[in-house]
Amino acid sequence: MINYTKTPIPELKSHLFEQHGIRVLVKREDLNHPFVSGNKWWKLKYNLEDAVRQSHDTLLTFGGAYSNHIFATAAAGKELGLKTIGIIRGEETLPLNHTLAFAESCGMKLHYISREAYRKKAELDFITQLRDQFGNLYLIPEGGTNEFAVKSCAEFAAQLNNDIDFDYLCLSIGTGGTMAGMIEGMNSSKKLIGFSSLKGGEFLVEEIRRMTSPEKTNWSVNSDYHFGGYGKAPSELKNFITEINDIHQLPLDIVYTSKMFFGVLDLITKGYFKKGSTLLVLHTGGLQGNPNENEENT
Ligand SMILES: *Cc1c(COP(=O)(O)O)cnc(C)c1O
Repeated sequence: MINYTKTPIPELKSHLFEQHGIRVLVKREDLNHPFVSGNKWWKLKYNLEDAVRQSHDTLLTFGGAYSNHIFATAAAGKELGLKTIGIIRGEETLPLNHTLAFAESCGMKLHYISREAYRKKAELDFITQLRDQFGNLYLIPEGGTNEFAVKSCAEFAAQLNNDIDFDYLCLSIGTGGTMAGMIEGMNSSKKLIGFSSLKGGEFLVEEIRRMTSPEKTNWSVNSDYHFGGYGKAPSELKNFITEINDIHQLPLDIVYTSKMFFGVLDLITKGYFKKGSTLLVLHTGGLQGNPNENEENT
């Protein structure tokens, strides 16, 4: 429904990898679509199909001011000719940052709500109120995480299973929806490691368990590389992004994939992975949210 470009899987070369007998492949899913990119393409896929099948003309969803999901939903709505409404956490700050300016340019109507109100976004009363206010709309939860997202990510995982030989899949986690799908679709002989970009991401184990089958136990959540928490980007992380782009021509985003990739390299350094292992690192996108010279992200 939304255009999809098949993405490359370059192998990264370095002395560190050689020394530890590890192969590192990167699935460049950030390149699958110019705007509805990365894991958001997959998470939105069946949500969009469902909205169109039910003849809805408006999508409503939620996110923070730098949300890749808001960005992707706005672009998807524009591509499909659907109206979009973004419920944004916190107060409006002008000028709009890149994410929100783009969303607005796609026609998305932005509505700001307090952080307190935002916490109630999944409650029935709040949703009823939104429907009263905006009419017949198709609601997509924060980050797009729901059963459709899990189903679609499971199909993506099954493709990776077929196409590539690897032992570990490494990916970033926000809500855990993408990881849950990847677990569901992945052959049990593979191990999955999700890197939390949130501080205190241990709760994600329960979240992910809730969205996956009980017999799946080939996965773990690593919460050691959050760099101070969600949306926090100390200069060490910014320098790391520059360094990795210089060495490997691999652009990483500041919220998710840079923290994950830092974690992967650190674990390799510490000898975490068995010699001879192949790691498949999933680039879930998010590059739109990187600050430009005039914009600070934290
Ligand atoms: C949204 C996002 C994630 C987190 O996905 P979840 O399914 O919420 O865990 C990871 N990486 C990038 C680049 C994202 O935009």
